[in-house]
Amino acid sequence: MSLFEQHESNVRGYIRSFPAIFDTATSATIVDIEGKRYIDFFGGAGSLNYGHNHPLINQALINYIQRNGITNALDKATVAKHDFISAFQSIILAPRHMDYKIQFVGPTGANGVETALKLARKMKQRSNVIAFTNAYHGHSLGALAVTGNEFYHDDYYGVPRNVNKMPYDNYFDHDMDSVDMLRHYLADGSSGYDLPAAVIVESIQGEGGINVASVAWLQKLSELCKEMDILLIMDEIQVGNGRTGDFFSFERANIQPDIITLSKSVGTGMPMSIVLMKPDVDVWSPGEHTGTFRGNSYAFVAGSAALELWRNDDFSRSIRAKGEQVEQAFRRLQARYPGWISDVRGLGMIWGLESLVEGFCNEVSKQAFERGLMMETAGASDQVLKFLGPLVISETELEEGFEILDDAMAAAVE
Ligand code: PMP
Repeated sequence: MSLFEQHESNVRGYIRSFPAIFDTATSATIVDIEGKRYIDFFGGAGSLNYGHNHPLINQALINYIQRNGITNALDKATVAKHDFISAFQSIILAPRHMDYKIQFVGPTGANGVETALKLARKMKQRSNVIAFTNAYHGHSLGALAVTGNEFYHDDYYGVPRNVNKMPYDNYFDHDMDSVDMLRHYLADGSSGYDLPAAVIVESIQGEGGINVASVAWLQKLSELCKEMDILLIMDEIQVGNGRTGDFFSFERANIQPDIITLSKSVGTGMPMSIVLMKPDVDVWSPGEHTGTFRGNSYAFVAGSAALELWRNDDFSRSIRAKGEQVEQAFRRLQARYPGWISDVRGLGMIWGLESLVEGFCNEVSKQAFERGLMMETAGASDQVLKFLGPLVISETELEEGFEILDDAMAAAVE
């Protein structure tokens, strides 16, 4: 039995895509215990935007540990927490003219979503929420309720029911879109759609298959929310933190949501989830929504170091430039495997290759892994191969990854 098989036999494991035991990593390259190298196009599902072991982040953590910085920050103001808040306010929020309060919530993205949903419901004193087909917001019950993939839903889970799902953008071929449709439903008492407290939406659906909402649709949704006194919650857990080239993915639509959820890369790979709320949305009473692990000192330290990269526009520019490289490489693959790849879509550094051939993407992912590339699939039927590599990935790593992907496709079509 290999060490990997022993590992899997002892745990309730979930390691299907990447059967190896990994040991060390830098930038976008991971090495397993056998010394085999893999290029990382998976990026910890969006939690490694700043790559593996970024030298500036590592140094900040080493310094913090060496000076015996506080680890557990429960119910305490600490230097690490204070520094993170200051950096977030001055580097991210202030230059964007965004006036938001930061709430630290439990460690995972789902904790942020739960917080956002509760907060919106409390503020509006309404329980209904609108979410979208193919949305992904997490697996705790409240977050699951707004996740638009029936695979995860079963009656006995007791998932809250006060949610209406609408089709996401690009669903219809004609003039009407789902914002128009929602407007009709909310105006028509016979629809059974109660006025919601909030709409929760991703500006690009990551897990749902790299579905990119148009600027026009996002703006229209934001307008509708304002007009009807509904809070707009943008889930930035996967596509925020610079993934699209802007720090927030909704910046491209020039909108300001009422509530924003961030997690994954905000702690650079360490667990942290935050909710940003416009000041008037902060209706919590003290202690009303709490938990032991709200914020994580190491994530504060690492997160502050990462925010430094946003001080000038070079970082954004490099993300966009690399994103173009990914797009071009994917379009070349589409041209090379025409019957197999039906669509290439994405923005910034999130890209998907869609295949309508059943099982193709999973086969490519498997073949790629054998050749030293980590790449996951997305979409309700795993119909999309997803690029979510670190934003700091080097040109060489990118090129190496594209070559492996090409070889993996060649093997998969045989
Ligand atoms: N929202 C979005 C958009 C996500 O992509 C995810 C995770 N893939 C979540 C929420 C849930 O985050 P977590 O897995 O950390 O609970």
